Amino acid sequence: MPGRLTQLGASSTVGRASHSRHNVRAVIAFQCCTRTACRGTEAKTDAMNHAGDRLDALVIGGGPAGLTAAIYLARFGRRFGVIDADESRAASIPESHNIPFFGDGIPGSSILARIRGHAGQYDISPLAASVTSLVREGTGFLAEARMKDGGTRSISARRILLATGSRDIEPRLPDLPDAVRRGLVRYCPICDGFESRDRRIAVIGHGARGLAEATFIARTYSNDVSLLSLGERLQLSPEDLKLAKRHGICLVEDAVVGLDVRDGRIAAMHTGGGTELRFDLLYSALGLHYRTELAAGLGAHLDDSGSLTVDEHGMTSVSGLYAAGDIVRGLDQIVVGMGQAAIAATHIHNHCELPLDGEV
Ligand SMILES: Cc1cc2nc3c(=O)[nH]c(=O)nc-3n(C[C@H](O)[C@H](O)[C@H](O)COP(=O)(O)OP(=O)(O)OC[C@H]3O[C@@H](n4cnc5c(N)ncnc54)[C@H](O)[C@@H]3O)c2cc1C
Repeated sequence: MPGRLTQLGASSTVGRASHSRHNVRAVIAFQCCTRTACRGTEAKTDAMNHAGDRLDALVIGGGPAGLTAAIYLARFGRRFGVIDADESRAASIPESHNIPFFGDGIPGSSILARIRGHAGQYDISPLAASVTSLVREGTGFLAEARMKDGGTRSISARRILLATGSRDIEPRLPDLPDAVRRGLVRYCPICDGFESRDRRIAVIGHGARGLAEATFIARTYSNDVSLLSLGERLQLSPEDLKLAKRHGICLVEDAVVGLDVRDGRIAAMHTGGGTELRFDLLYSALGLHYRTELAAGLGAHLDDSGSLTVDEHGMTSVSGLYAAGDIVRGLDQIVVGMGQAAIAATHIHNHCELPLDGEV
């Protein structure tokens, strides 16, 4: 069991608006690595670890992916920090049934409480702040974080693990959070389509993305699926129309101009004649905004959807910059993000003292 591990923020004594890296030393309980596996490279490790106030790794984002990485790094005896702006997508999960070990279902708030509790066993206490800039600094990286109280802090680390997640692009609906809580509006049929079986389902989305989601649901869960488009007419190619027909998807071609909740069901008003359509629930396929700005600023490669591409070790196209969870191209699922985080954290541990590409 490693000793007290690197923390950011647990017992912060740093003043506001500090940009000094020396201040980082003041709040981070640096602990020399005592791992047996590390002893062979002790001299080298020591030289690098103590060359400045540099951490082995900084995890940005404290959702399921970021905290999984943190737990792994803690168990490897690494000196690291976690910074989290506390806006996990998981917080809005009403109840998940697709996470192994929780067959009876578990709300997102409990998932977060459990993983925070687990991380707490290793004294991991994320710094409540938002990283506003990330740049190369010699052989590592320098992050600037803005604290909730307006102060700033600079943190230097050899490796970065980005787990900043994503944000759903939301449909305009009065009291949307309540509709999400009640399961009337959903974002992820892979997550909860099983619980939507044989219901009357609307999918709201544009173009290929909307049709792909409607097709997935119609193939897998329900014979009563309608595709709606918000604010503009559905525009589908002849091939799209054939696909929709093959899966029995009802196409509402006129633009939907309003959504509402009536009597526990979703009501959609469209422009053609003002009729109102009623559904048991609605899947929003308007897409995700991936929080990749920090990675993009370093030139990391993004795919067409705007998410990060990584290699088999979880490293982005920027050497030393790793990523896990929703920001990585993939399924946007908790168990996937946790797996990506475990792989990336282990690679960081095994390569932390080695030079990065391009270093001598
Ligand atoms: C309604 C709903 C239901 C869902 N149901 C399921 C389900 O049943 N099963 C399932 O597997 N998944 C489900 N998901 C998806 C799941 O919530 C995500 O896949 C998961 O939360 C992603 O984890 P993450 O750690 O990558 O990102 P997040 O959990 O979003 O955490 C990212 C963290 O990084 C922080 N952050 C972002 N930028 C910065 C920055 N610059 N500096 C510091 N911190 C930053 C954020 O504030 C946040 O706390 C659902 C999602 C929604 C919206």
